Amino acid sequence: MRVVVIGAGMAGLTAARLIGAGGHDVTVLDKGRRPGGRMATRQLDGGASADHGAQFFTVRTEEFAAVVAGWLADGTVREWCRGFSSDDGHPRFAAAHGMAELAARMCVGLDVRASVHVDSVRSAGRRWMVSWPATPRGPGGAIEADIVVLTPPIPQSAALVAGVVALPEWNYEPMISLLVALDDRPAVSHPGGIQFDDDPTWSWIGDNVAKGVSALPAVTLHTRADVAVARWDEDDEVLREDLLLAAAPWLGAAKIIDVHMHRWRYATPVGSHPARCLSKADGRLVFAGDAFGGPRIEGAFLSGRAAAAAVLHAGETS
Ligand SMILES: Cc1cc2nc3c(=O)[nH]c(=O)nc-3n(C[C@H](O)[C@H](O)[C@H](O)COP(=O)(O)OP(=O)(O)OC[C@H]3O[C@@H](n4cnc5c(N)ncnc54)[C@H](O)[C@@H]3O)c2cc1C
Repeated sequence: MRVVVIGAGMAGLTAARLIGAGGHDVTVLDKGRRPGGRMATRQLDGGASADHGAQFFTVRTEEFAAVVAGWLADGTVREWCRGFSSDDGHPRFAAAHGMAELAARMCVGLDVRASVHVDSVRSAGRRWMVSWPATPRGPGGAIEADIVVLTPPIPQSAALVAGVVALPEWNYEPMISLLVALDDRPAVSHPGGIQFDDDPTWSWIGDNVAKGVSALPAVTLHTRADVAVARWDEDDEVLREDLLLAAAPWLGAAKIIDVHMHRWRYATPVGSHPARCLSKADGRLVFAGDAFGGPRIEGAFLSGRAAAAAVLHAGETS
């Protein structure tokens, strides 16, 4: 069977690995320059790196624990700490060289094509035609598939299959992240992360050196969702300067070397769909992602795993 997976985040890569291991021919398409989706790492001017989407992950299920054990054994992942304000005994894991490297490791042995922005999935007899237009980053094209697994956030997947099948409406909270490279370590105490409950601007700040992702000082700050909603359309320059002011207490006396701001439109799904994936069109379209498995990396993994099981089952019964 020929399977196309749209999205090279945790859900799509998990699904693709398992479908490929089941003996099927899999291609993964992603619109990003690098795989990873919301598992993203950016290089900043001056040489520092910073995770700008997901910061760490937890493990609550045996299925995910088994995979994480392999990543720990080969050094892709390390335990960062067991809580930020106090030790609660539950490990927080970080990708040793940044979240994007974890995604890159999951791509090994897979046919993953980056900078491919799919714009439609259309029926072609009993198969699907998945197509994308030419962009400055690459030529247009199309692939036929027996089954398509779609892992973008639900509104983005819904747009790709509009008029073919309908998906439930789903809300996501946005988030704005600020990455700041510094000439000295920030004022973020051990273990190097703060999850804020009552700060007026921030939900998170992380020290990428303490996490082990950067050799040079760099912090990642995430706004609260309500702040992202209220300030979404503001001019970049104005917003960046305002956010830098709000970040000042944690930057200490360090000099700023570089700043990068990113708006995450679909940062966190609100609630989880009751199923871990959704099969439509007689099981030939499968929808997955963190809206199905839970709003975190482990949730995306569980959803990708469920999508692969659905595809393998469809392959056995077709
Ligand atoms: C700022 C932020 C902080 C977070 N912090 C944490 C954290 O600390 N711990 C945690 O566990 N989780 C965290 N999360 C959530 C976690 O990142 C996600 O739950 C998880 O990565 C989602 O994986 P996914 O595969 O479902 O989706 P995604 O990672 O979004 O993957 C979907 C992929 O689809 C691709 N795509 C979309 N449309 C198209 C198209 N038309 N054509 C081709 N490709 C397309 C996208 O480029 C993307 O790569 C955070 C998220 C954000 C944004």
